[in-house]
Amino acid sequence: MEEFDELVSSLTPREDNEAIKSYQNTTAVACPACETPFDDMVVCKREFTSLELDFEMDLCTTIHDGDVVLFTHK
Ligand SMILES: [Zn+2]
Repeated sequence: MEEFDELVSSLTPREDNEAIKSYQNTTAVACPACETPFDDMVVCKREFTSLELDFEMDLCTTIHDGDVVLFTHK
């Protein structure tokens, strides 16, 4: 999905561990799901992942190459 690579290239990488890879949306890119700018994008690399969220937030999701991708909206 070329669109996804384009999206990733405009985000700032933050965390990368064995469970997740996260990016910060520093340039107010629109969320592909709801079309409003999101705060962070999180790629879940494992089959099962628990996320501890610091804030109450809305989530949008997509699937890319079999990985769940989350878009957070605070
Ligand atoms: Zn969204």
